Amino acid sequence: NEFLDEEDLDKLEVRPPIVTIMGHVDHGKTTLLDYIRNSKVVASEAGGITQGIGAYQVLVPVDGNPQACVFLDTPGHEAFGAMRARGAKVTDICIIVVAADDGVRPQTNEAIAHAKAAGVPIIIAINKVDKEGANQERVMQELSQIGLMPEMWGGDTPMIQISALKGENVDELLETVMLVAELQELKANPHRNAKGTVIEACLDKAKGPLATLVVQNGTLNKGDILVCGEAFGKIRAMYDDRGSLVDQVGPSNAVQIIGLNNVPLAGDEFESVDDLDVARERANARADAMRIERISAKAG
Ligand code: GDP
Repeated sequence: NEFLDEEDLDKLEVRPPIVTIMGHVDHGKTTLLDYIRNSKVVASEAGGITQGIGAYQVLVPVDGNPQACVFLDTPGHEAFGAMRARGAKVTDICIIVVAADDGVRPQTNEAIAHAKAAGVPIIIAINKVDKEGANQERVMQELSQIGLMPEMWGGDTPMIQISALKGENVDELLETVMLVAELQELKANPHRNAKGTVIEACLDKAKGPLATLVVQNGTLNKGDILVCGEAFGKIRAMYDDRGSLVDQVGPSNAVQIIGLNNVPLAGDEFESVDDLDVARERANARADAMRIERISAKAG
């Protein structure tokens, strides 16, 4: 993990996996994420209206104990690809949805290529198995031809047959996610200043620049001073995926923040620093560096 430093090594604690769902259009990404989001919330908050901050935390029972898992709602793999092109690595596990009545399609191949290039483990969700014309066997054959051999055929790619629409086998899919996460031994040091990546940002007419940040190391607090790509500022408020105000978030969690002077870009890294002057200086230095990069790119 590029977000870990030497000083973190003796303070590491297990962190939740960060998962992205990808796949060909209409194969069921949105349906699957909606089902997961609506069925796997903290009991006391069930039925709450979720806010579109681009990331959701759900609790998955593992041996009866609820364990956190974070899903990124990036609008397809364009965002994932753009972030990867900018060198951002946020995802720990990639679920690739393949519709059983349609099979491997161009965007399936792209998603697999992205995940492989980023070195992210792949779990295949063979979706729409409830549909007439569903042919799981054919999907597994197509996948094995492009180098993803199903576990049940002796390979090492987990492939779970689901119906996202009916919620069938989604539990098993989530258990598989947690199993793969456990093998990855995902860790971070919550006892330090926060570092991570911007996954979404926009300008809100009332609130000013809004950014959704994924904390990849450390703990982020309300009032922290951030340098965030070419932007900087002091966090005035943080919201979770239910739109509730929060004061503190630890590793793997996502929050939407207000307080930056500018809108950062998806894929920008952020870090909390000691004072506003340092933040301003570093943001300006970064803006200068980017300007020089753009000029020299133009000059060929
Ligand atoms: P996305 O483009 O990958 O996000 O796909 P959507 O989630 O929007 O799904 C596309 C269509 O497939 C919608 O009409 C869904 O209701 C339908 N769909 C998704 N999952 C299933 C499933 O498991 N079974 C059936 N029968 N339809 C599904």
